[in-house]
Amino acid sequence: MNIRATVGLFAAQCPHCKSIDFRMVDARNAMERALHWLLQPYRCGLCGHHFFLCRWQSPVGGTA
Ligand SMILES: [Zn+2]
Repeated sequence: MNIRATVGLFAAQCPHCKSIDFRMVDARNAMERALHWLLQPYRCGLCGHHFFLCRWQSPVGGTA
């Protein structure tokens, strides 16, 4: 993982295209389920990039 990807992990926007048009998605595998308490998986609505946000940084809450 390079530094840009690391920074993107903690930004409330798509790390690929910088869009804020993204939505929460379900965990896809055991690793994501294991991290679900800490990292929430999102998918960008603009470019389709899959990324994670820390739960305490999630821009939307209470939808699950
Ligand atoms: Zn994107």
